[in-house]
Amino acid sequence: MTSSLSRRSFLGGLAAASAAAASKEARARAFAPIGAAPRRPVVIASANGWWDEPERGSAVATTMRALLDPETAERPYGLLEAIVEGVGVTESDARDHSVGLGGLPNEDGVVQLDASCMFGPNHRAGAVGALENVRHAARVAMNVLRYTDHSFLVGKGAYEFARAFGMPHEELLTEEARKIWLYWRQSHSAKDDWFTPPDAEVDPDVLDRFTTGTIHLSAVDARGDVASVTTTSGLSFKIPGRVGDSPIVGAGMFCDNDIGGAGATGRGEEAIANCGAFSIVDEMGRDVEPTEACLNVLKRVARHAERRGFWKDGRPDFQLKFYAVRKDGAYGSACMLEGGAFAVMTGEDESPRHEECAFLYEKR
Ligand code: ASP
Repeated sequence: MTSSLSRRSFLGGLAAASAAAASKEARARAFAPIGAAPRRPVVIASANGWWDEPERGSAVATTMRALLDPETAERPYGLLEAIVEGVGVTESDARDHSVGLGGLPNEDGVVQLDASCMFGPNHRAGAVGALENVRHAARVAMNVLRYTDHSFLVGKGAYEFARAFGMPHEELLTEEARKIWLYWRQSHSAKDDWFTPPDAEVDPDVLDRFTTGTIHLSAVDARGDVASVTTTSGLSFKIPGRVGDSPIVGAGMFCDNDIGGAGATGRGEEAIANCGAFSIVDEMGRDVEPTEACLNVLKRVARHAERRGFWKDGRPDFQLKFYAVRKDGAYGSACMLEGGAFAVMTGEDESPRHEECAFLYEKR
């Protein structure tokens, strides 16, 4: 335990962790060696991988459906295609302002997407950063992985690459996202020439909608193969060209076919500076349970946050969430500040569900 953590906060994290581990299923999984494959696939994602709103579709359910289709396992990249198809649902959900179509733009009002993916069986990775006008950033990252000798394309090059594969050019800034951005532009500084419009003229839905968010999804199939993907529009109103953790292999996602997969959402700069996803997988490779692995890396992030100056009232002043699935199907998630949830589905479940993330610091 770091000396900076209060005992109560730390125990809060442990309580949530052990509550998650208390289910019979989780207990059974906890004692399986990492070498063993789960009997059925397991898919874990950030909370936006499933909403209890069927019309929005679900990244987790879509991935699981593909993984339960015997044809998927016959295709060399079937598992990777399944997770990319899954997060494609969220990339197309205009109501989710953190990913793909409808994502909140940068400070110039331009939507710039970041994504990465990794395929355990051949340990290859693909990523795109600051991609404009193509909604399925994760699919572009997958094409980098599959069809090039590179790992990371950015900006115009990433766009041209996507177009070469026939992906459509689209305006990703929806009307709602444009209004949210415009209000931010008009109201965020008293030192520029924009006037803040009177409240009566502003749709309450667009007030103060600074959004964090991203979708991370990792899956292990019935053979024990692992793949991970993270896709996002990044921090709202970021400086044009800013790339977060999501497309950075080892920060926003990482997998190792001998161990498992992991990913991050929340303040990307912290996941980058602490090699978040890589560190979680590394912990799991040392026999640390998935939830505990997430908590251990969060403790490291917290220790560095004080030094980095992102510290307020005795705790980090940001949210960061980690997700992990082990090769044998054990899974877990933890966040810096109490209140996070994640989406999960096993091949035995009828639908995805949300579970609470363990946490380092309780709400106050
Ligand atoms: N991690 C993302 C980024 O920093 C944002 C988020 O997940 O909220 O770009």
